Amino acid sequence: MNLGLHEFTHVLHFHAIKGKDPSASIFYDEFNEIAKYYNDARLSAELTERGYFRDYAYENQFEFLSVLLEHFFESPETFKKEFPELYERVKAMINFNEE
Ligand SMILES: [Zn+2]
Repeated sequence: MNLGLHEFTHVLHFHAIKGKDPSASIFYDEFNEIAKYYNDARLSAELTERGYFRDYAYENQFEFLSVLLEHFFESPETFKKEFPELYERVKAMINFNEE
C-alpha cells in the first residue's frame, strides 16, 4: 500500500470539495460518478466479490477513493482490465495523461 498516495488523495478530495478552481470541479464531478460504485448496492457487491480492491476501501467513500487511487498507480493494467469504466473515471478525475 502506498501511504503517501493514499493520504494525498484525501487532501485532493478535501480541496475538490472546498476549492473553486476548474480542476477542483472536475475532480468533484468525477468523484460523484465514482461514488455511485460505492453507494449502489449492486455495483459495490460486484466490486467486493471480485476482491481486487483491498477491504479498507469499503470503510467509507473517502477511503474508497484513496484505495482506488492506490490501485490506479500500483497496478494500472489490472485495474484497467478488471474495471475499465471505473478506471477511465479515475483517469478523468485526476486529468491523468497516459502518454
Ligand atoms: Zn485513508
